[in-house]
Amino acid sequence: MIDCIKCKVSKESIEVMNFKGDLGVEIKKSVCNECFLEWENDMQMKVMNEYRLDLSNKEHRDFLIKKMKEFFTLIETEL
Ligand SMILES: [Zn+2]
Repeated sequence: MIDCIKCKVSKESIEVMNFKGDLGVEIKKSVCNECFLEWENDMQMKVMNEYRLDLSNKEHRDFLIKKMKEFFTLIETEL
């Protein structure tokens, strides 16, 4: 179980983590499985479509990670 910073509820921790290194560790210790899957299965695609991201482009990949951190409330949302 984990106290999720996104939904503020104590829930199951993430089962499958695709992100390696510090980012993966940070997400896994902060976000529940449900919120992570919400990003993976839904929000990620919405962000990619909204901003027309091309994941072969490193800047775009970095932008997607920034948006993910904002979604998880790991960082503050820039207005
Ligand atoms: Zn959560």
